[in-house]
Amino acid sequence: MGGRRRFAADDADGQCPLTSFEDGGGMSAVYDFISALRQGEVFTHYPLAGYTTWQIGGPAEVFYRPESSEACCRAIECVHQAGLPIFYLGAGSNVLIADAGLKGLVIQTGKLNRSKNEKDRIIAEAGVSLVTLSQHALQSGLTGLEFVCGIPGTLGGAVINNAGAHGREMAEVIETVKTVDSQGLTKVYQQKDLGFIYRNSALKGKNELIIEVSLKLAEGERDVVRKTMDEYRQLRRKKQAVGLPNAGSIFKNPPGDYAGRLIEEAGLKGLSVGDAQVSSKHANFIVNKGRAKASDVLALIEEVQKTVREKYSVELETEVVLMGFSDNGR
Ligand SMILES: Cc1cc2nc3c(=O)[nH]c(=O)nc-3n(C[C@H](O)[C@H](O)[C@H](O)COP(=O)(O)OP(=O)(O)OC[C@H]3O[C@@H](n4cnc5c(N)ncnc54)[C@H](O)[C@@H]3O)c2cc1C
Repeated sequence: MGGRRRFAADDADGQCPLTSFEDGGGMSAVYDFISALRQGEVFTHYPLAGYTTWQIGGPAEVFYRPESSEACCRAIECVHQAGLPIFYLGAGSNVLIADAGLKGLVIQTGKLNRSKNEKDRIIAEAGVSLVTLSQHALQSGLTGLEFVCGIPGTLGGAVINNAGAHGREMAEVIETVKTVDSQGLTKVYQQKDLGFIYRNSALKGKNELIIEVSLKLAEGERDVVRKTMDEYRQLRRKKQAVGLPNAGSIFKNPPGDYAGRLIEEAGLKGLSVGDAQVSSKHANFIVNKGRAKASDVLALIEEVQKTVREKYSVELETEVVLMGFSDNGR
């Protein structure tokens, strides 16, 4: 890319210099600035398929795995000043990333994974995995997070989507959420201001990076917590072991019904587009049989929606987040 300026580590100690982008440096200048922060890993044209459970998706123009929330603020401020797009990724267990990839900066939260206890609270960074978090609660003799023990996502992804299972959801245990807004400034939200409803929150669409969450749990009997987690894991193995890469439930359940029931009754189990297939075991899962492209998955999603609409007059809404598609930037 022409006209870019290079930044030394010293530059990164100060403010992100707006003038650096005036010569058309764009993402190259952002890359240089983030590299100079020396806080995590940064790559260009980095394939994202390996960072999604579907193993599907093209490259990120710049891919960043920050090691501190301060570095996130700096990087986001920089991208904001450059007027370029930004995307956030946790464990990639609830996203479909376009085959063409994502233009701009992708921040993946995997290295923001510290957590600590404060009496019956756990304060955790957004990139901590839900499996690790539920183990942390168990070891600390705390109850309230058993339901996430088999969900393969991160805390940040679970907050934004109000993830849930076994009749429980994240909204019940969240106390506060700390974010970085699109200008690189931190904010703290109280639970009541987050508008949690079924698989949704007021944070969706705001394009703020969740960096830390305070979870209010309760003291519990370790043995009881462990037994409940074992039962949940067993149940999940029985119902969801589809054996191929997937992204969990594709569609939200419509009011009073189950997406999986409608899809199965419409005779769509096993329907394929390329290597993308409606799972024959769990109708609300789409599996990647090997070389499925995002375009195959999207075509299959649209086919399922069309059939269910025509047969039952029900509009199935995706739970999975589409990223990088022309009419849906994120
Ligand atoms: C086998 C399987 C089973 C599953 N079971 C369940 C289940 O029982 N219940 C359930 O609710 N879900 C389930 N899921 C879906 C998924 O695991 C959850 O929604 C999970 O919480 C997503 O977290 P993630 O880190 O993978 O998010 P990602 O897929 O990485 O991202 C999802 C969305 O969250 C955003 N995001 C992620 N991290 C941040 C952050 N720090 N700040 C701001 N935005 C962020 C992304 O931009 C994207 O819009 C399942 C998935 C699989 C593959």
